[in-house]
Amino acid sequence: MIPFNKPFLTGKETQYIEDAVKRLKISGNGDYTKECHNFFEQQYGFKKCLLTTSCTDALEMCAILADIKPGDEVIIPSYTFVSTAIAFIRQGAKVVFADSYSDNPNIDASQIEALINSKTKAIVPVHYAGVACDMDAIMDIANRYDLLVIEDAAQAITSRYKGKYLGSIGHMAAFSFHETKNVIAGEGGLLAINDDRFVNRAEIIWEKGTNRAEFFRGEVNKYGWVDIGSSFLPSEIISAFLWAQLENIETIQSKRLQHWHYYNNQLKEWAETKGIKLMPTPLEETNNAHMYYIVCNSIEQRTSLIAHLKANSIYAVFHYLSLHASDYYKDKHDGRELENSDYFTNHLLRLPMFYELPVEEVVKCLKSF
Ligand SMILES: *Cc1c(COP(=O)(O)O)cnc(C)c1O
Repeated sequence: MIPFNKPFLTGKETQYIEDAVKRLKISGNGDYTKECHNFFEQQYGFKKCLLTTSCTDALEMCAILADIKPGDEVIIPSYTFVSTAIAFIRQGAKVVFADSYSDNPNIDASQIEALINSKTKAIVPVHYAGVACDMDAIMDIANRYDLLVIEDAAQAITSRYKGKYLGSIGHMAAFSFHETKNVIAGEGGLLAINDDRFVNRAEIIWEKGTNRAEFFRGEVNKYGWVDIGSSFLPSEIISAFLWAQLENIETIQSKRLQHWHYYNNQLKEWAETKGIKLMPTPLEETNNAHMYYIVCNSIEQRTSLIAHLKANSIYAVFHYLSLHASDYYKDKHDGRELENSDYFTNHLLRLPMFYELPVEEVVKCLKSF
């Protein structure tokens, strides 16, 4: 059986968790958490990092920091995970959906400007499959209209755009360490802040609206309730697990990239004869091998390909259902057709991708379709 995803363990996870437990510092913001923060700040050029219990939580923190209020509008792609939307909806925002490019599920930057009005507060590009959105165009629009850019970089760890790490370009960014991502902690996330204006408040919101972090640094002589917030920080058990993964991030990424290139090289001819499109080959700097997807020529073809693989105990899965057409939002959406998002909803298929993947077997099975 070849699953779609299998979490990869480096072997040190339980050792570091045991260590955290033995130190009797099990709650959040201990040594492992700080190690992870330093790692991200130094490696990727994020100004301030805070681990969270999920990427969804990190996005919720972004929505609070962006001061999103009822009636505000936020522009997001329709082809994305629910979390990109609900983080802002919870603050009372209206999400305005933009379409994808025709050959790439990322937000079509050329459509964004027409969606902006006086209520617009932020743009949330999602780097689908870890491949960079058109960040120059997006930052240019944001600067001209004085909007915030919040990168949903859930899938984008180690990936770059014009030499800059994804997550370091917008005002803030959110990453995920869910077990389906490249680097994992079971459930876990990271808020990266690049704009100094948000750093202090982020620490406060992270720890239940208190100035506890400043207190422990000796910057204030008592700590108390100063703002809204929640318990967004993960326990040391999660940070210890994540640290074992971060120590091995290069090994993890190079193995995934090997699989990615094997798919891409081996499937070209086959795809052509079947009328299937392979995912567009990203520039090397923006390929983190989070995913390998193909785009089938019809929903029927995709259904039979999934069945063929499944009959051989190989599990491939489609991905998002356009959010503008979801049960929750279809009546709230403004009625615009988003045909590229719907196209990927119906045609995109993700192939198995994980560290220990026997990629040759998957390719062989695809070629027998
Ligand atoms: C995985 C994912 C999320 C959610 O991450 P969690 O850590 O599970 O909250 C959000 N957005 C995108 C694009 C994702 O792929």
